[in-house]
Amino acid sequence: MGQSQPRTAGPEDDSAGTSPGSDRPVTSQGSATNPPPTRRRRALVIGAGSSGLATIQQALEAGLEPFCCEARPGVGGAWRFDADPGPYEWHFGEDGEAHVFTPGESDVKGRPTPSPMYASLRTNVPTTLMQYRGTPFPRTVGLFSKHNEVQQYLEDFAEPFLPYIRFDTRVVSVRHTLETDPYDDDADLGTEPRSSSSALGHRRWIASFRSTLRNDAPLEECQFDAVFVANGHYSRPYVPATEGLQDFPGERLHARWYRDAGQFEQKTVLVVGNSASGYDITRELADSIYTRRQAGVPAETLPRIYQSARSPPALGVPWDAPDAPEYSKEVQTFPPIRRIDGRRIEFLDGRSVNDVHTIMFATGYFFSFPFLSPSSAPFSEYPVTYAPPKPSDPSDSAPQPSAKGGLRIHNLDDRMLFYLPDPTLAFLGLPYLVIPFPLAQIQARLAARHFASSPQLPEPLRFRPNPAMAGSNGEEDGAPEIRGTVTLGHPKQFDLHDRMLRETGDVRDKEGREELGQAGGIWTLTSEADRDLRKGAKGLRKAVLGY
Ligand SMILES: Cc1cc2nc3c(=O)[nH]c(=O)nc-3n(C[C@H](O)[C@H](O)[C@H](O)COP(=O)(O)OP(=O)(O)OC[C@H]3O[C@@H](n4cnc5c(N)ncnc54)[C@H](O)[C@@H]3O)c2cc1C
Repeated sequence: MGQSQPRTAGPEDDSAGTSPGSDRPVTSQGSATNPPPTRRRRALVIGAGSSGLATIQQALEAGLEPFCCEARPGVGGAWRFDADPGPYEWHFGEDGEAHVFTPGESDVKGRPTPSPMYASLRTNVPTTLMQYRGTPFPRTVGLFSKHNEVQQYLEDFAEPFLPYIRFDTRVVSVRHTLETDPYDDDADLGTEPRSSSSALGHRRWIASFRSTLRNDAPLEECQFDAVFVANGHYSRPYVPATEGLQDFPGERLHARWYRDAGQFEQKTVLVVGNSASGYDITRELADSIYTRRQAGVPAETLPRIYQSARSPPALGVPWDAPDAPEYSKEVQTFPPIRRIDGRRIEFLDGRSVNDVHTIMFATGYFFSFPFLSPSSAPFSEYPVTYAPPKPSDPSDSAPQPSAKGGLRIHNLDDRMLFYLPDPTLAFLGLPYLVIPFPLAQIQARLAARHFASSPQLPEPLRFRPNPAMAGSNGEEDGAPEIRGTVTLGHPKQFDLHDRMLRETGDVRDKEGREELGQAGGIWTLTSEADRDLRKGAKGLRKAVLGY
């Protein structure tokens, strides 16, 4: 398969993009000007986690024909808990860059990697904000629910969409077709129901996929008019390059393999990172030590808990806050690690410790799209991720496109949704510091209506470069939480929801007024009550869970 220039058009060449980096907005020819397509447009959905499931729902509503590949045996993605995450192994590059994998892990063959959820996880935002529109959590589920309750919610939501999902199937590549490729309109997707097909007469994307059940499973190929990428971003661990880590004689672990404090009863642990997982793991280990101390276990037999972080926790109560739970006193905090020398771990402020059994990296994940190869069009010219620079790279060396992953995202529009060089490709649920279920559902609604040239769109979509992505293509070797190109947070997430809802055509009633709140089944703008709830979520969590 050769390369073709990134298209600047949507389905049936009726939408336009823009040259990446240019300010020039371009438009899709929306429903007002287009005849309806002669057959349902076929859309690939990659992943059946919460984003992929919302996408199938919205694709069907918009009249698309979705075909979802899910690498795992069931729905739920990250929420599909693996009690035993299995073994892991470390690899170190020449420059000391550290990578940790499941042995034999492959982007093209074999079983998918385990979920990153740990046993005690409770949601960090109220379930009333997490839920999809039109599908409330059952009344029996609390405000900050357990991971298995979220998984059950997703399984219930998924029920009508199962016929559109091929499980145990990994998408291995997605690339542009050539103008000369025949359109394989009769391809059997192996799912029911299939629509009657008639030639649309254009080529868009060609995807290859294979079963994850056998290492030698054959590769299958199929063409699609549009692609929704919903593969999540919690599978390829990020570990900051740390001098001496390779020779540390104790245990090295990434939070992806953490399940509960029981594993560490006799171990002094240094947790690196203070985002959601880093905070939770430190809290659990501190609580375990504190509980034993209170029960009279001699102090000299108890391990310690250290945490190395750049900043106070974004989610929980700081350890030294006056209202912090009692066990917080167990936590000794340090700035980032300067270097490791044998057992001695030195921090940036000059202090050091030498009694650590386990260094636990709760340092997040790379964005990784191994199926968008930089050797295939259009990603050869317009990559989505670049490899982070190695410590020894000269500062002026050109960044290298990498499907393996990077810390930033490039070439998306200012909604962080559409691939700018060809907006028939959309990425669901990418931004950080958001509530992913409702965001992905609204994103999917907009993208599906765009892909289907839906008459519900009030006007053609416009695609503008994301200003945060317009600068350097280079990577910053920083903590994931400072990934500026994709960090939203509150209240920007709700502002983006509202912008996209206006674009879908949902929020106007017959008189052209806008509606707020969850009124009468209409998809309305974010209510003030929801904005307030989000603002107060941290305090509410403390009141309900105690942290
Ligand atoms: C520890 C932890 C705690 C969290 N807590 C919360 C919380 O409290 N509240 C909240 O709202 N969010 C939370 N999140 C965020 C969570 O990731 C999202 O809620 C949600 O799971 C994102 O869904 P997704 O569908 O985008 O990705 P995922 O859930 O990761 O699903 C992606 C799916 O794509 C599949 N896939 C990947 N690659 C391929 C391929 N090539 N071919 C086929 N299938 C593929 C995977 O197998 C997976 O099933 C947490 C995340 C973590 C890691």
